Amino acid sequence: MRIFSDLIGNDDIKNTLGGAISRNEFSHAYIIEGEDGSGKSTVARLASAAIMCQNRDTLPCKVCPSCKKILNDSCVDVRFYDAFKVDDVRKIKEAIYQSATESDYQIFILNDAHKMTVQAQNALLLSLEEPPKNVVFFLLCKDATLLLETIRSRAVLLRTTPLTKEQILRYADMHVDTGLPNDTLDKLATLSRGSLGYFKDMLDSGKSDALIKSRETALLFVCGMLNLDTGSANLVYSMFSWQRDRVKEIFNLSLLALRDLAVVKRSRGTPLCFFVSYDEASTLASRYSLKKILKLIDAITIGIDNFAVNASVAGVLTSILASCE
Ligand SMILES: [Zn+2]
Repeated sequence: MRIFSDLIGNDDIKNTLGGAISRNEFSHAYIIEGEDGSGKSTVARLASAAIMCQNRDTLPCKVCPSCKKILNDSCVDVRFYDAFKVDDVRKIKEAIYQSATESDYQIFILNDAHKMTVQAQNALLLSLEEPPKNVVFFLLCKDATLLLETIRSRAVLLRTTPLTKEQILRYADMHVDTGLPNDTLDKLATLSRGSLGYFKDMLDSGKSDALIKSRETALLFVCGMLNLDTGSANLVYSMFSWQRDRVKEIFNLSLLALRDLAVVKRSRGTPLCFFVSYDEASTLASRYSLKKILKLIDAITIGIDNFAVNASVAGVLTSILASCE
């Protein structure tokens, strides 16, 4: 039997959850923990379809009427909630005790479950303790430790794992007609830091060209700040007249580049999040001391914090320049 064949990576989830569904021995509640864009909703959707699939050779088969509805988000028995408040949980509790309309199961998928108030979590608890038959919960969250221990103890915890760059590029190759050159895809896949959702956003938003340009600007900015030569000074001075959001974007990308430069000085095992190759990052990193790299990381981080309290672009850039002298 093939299970979750559309799910990339995440073998643990395939084995644990997929295996349980294929044996019809699944739990009534799962917590799916992982970063934004790491596939939590995809897992919940695929699992819902697999639970209700009318074929049993491939789970979910994606072609039976039940799979089609669930994967199109048009099945009334699979409901998504943003459960933050007691009132929302009350709606969920009311729905639980109505029987499924068109399926054997009722499935409740709670997005951002970690944002639920303590009162809301307590209100949900009873439903998790004594769920009506044929009800399944998927609580999606960034950090399961933000959920009450009493909630965690009543659900099976699953964790989505970041994908490798190769897995993301293979996905692009098989499923997306991007029309983008390979080196651009390579850069975007690196910047996505293992998140297929983030990678798809970059392609869908049509902003991939602008992002690649910003990436190049960030690289110039980083080299400029580390070298402090005349050419780079020109770029920094031109940034004085930029909008705050534009500068912030360059800062955030610069932090990724600097993080890679610091990483390659220590080990070769950690995945990079800016440079497409270790050699490129190592060659650049070898020109600067780790102390200098870390100092610039601190200065840019402080600059981003100062933007949050409305500091001016000129003020922030002046401070960073001063700290690099
Ligand atoms: Zn099916």
